[in-house]
Amino acid sequence: MHLTFLGTCAGTEPMPDRKHTSFAIEYNGKVYWFDAGAGCSYTAHLLGIDLLSVRAIFISHTHMDHVGGLANLLWDIRKLNGREKDPARRISDRRIDLFIPDLQVWQGVRQVLHGTEGQFAIDFDLAATDYADGAIFGDGDFQVRALHNRHLGVPATGEAWKSYSFGIEIAGKRIVFSGDIKDVAELEPLLQDCDLLLVETGHHKVEDLCTYAREQPVKRLGFLHHGRAILADPAGQERKARHIFGDDVFLAADGMRIDLSTL
Ligand SMILES: [Zn+2]
Repeated sequence: MHLTFLGTCAGTEPMPDRKHTSFAIEYNGKVYWFDAGAGCSYTAHLLGIDLLSVRAIFISHTHMDHVGGLANLLWDIRKLNGREKDPARRISDRRIDLFIPDLQVWQGVRQVLHGTEGQFAIDFDLAATDYADGAIFGDGDFQVRALHNRHLGVPATGEAWKSYSFGIEIAGKRIVFSGDIKDVAELEPLLQDCDLLLVETGHHKVEDLCTYAREQPVKRLGFLHHGRAILADPAGQERKARHIFGDDVFLAADGMRIDLSTL
């Protein structure tokens, strides 16, 4: 029951030691993927995360710093499956769910994949779907619900929201992932009994997020999708965060692993 940060940078130009946003949760022999910034599957594979155990992929919105590694993630899964000698480990006939709020972008990714070797013919079931507010996925005591935010604006009448935050429940632990948000108060409906709030700093100041979160039922606060203030001075920003929120705050780093049972 672990969460591993695969990329912790906001949508900046390339930065040393940080790739764009992505993390994976390993639970009960399955892997659940949240956002897919460039290089996420490369990082995960080298960290020993089993790409053939990916059960579902959740995309908060389709900006490049959240989907730049999606085609490669799926390509890597297919590649590893094709090279797998142990038939029991092959994912043939298994299903991977992909939750993505813009199916037009998915069609583009699909086309990129179609242009690769074997036209990306696969023998597992890759089920892509868009989603709306509410429970979107359940697998035993692993549950995900979505809540729209205004990061990509307010849709016209009849159009769907295109950017979401996620509430994740695992064996009774509650994690909230902000995705990208317009206003931190948008997260409030997800924050009840929140064991870990993972919130982006690409569009928000650390002090504002800490001031908000300390008034909410949030036990632990983690920053990811780092903006320029953290990229320039992580130690100084962390000191400031601790001063406001207390000791239970951390800045995520690429490759950092959290044992969720300790939350
Ligand atoms: Zn972003």
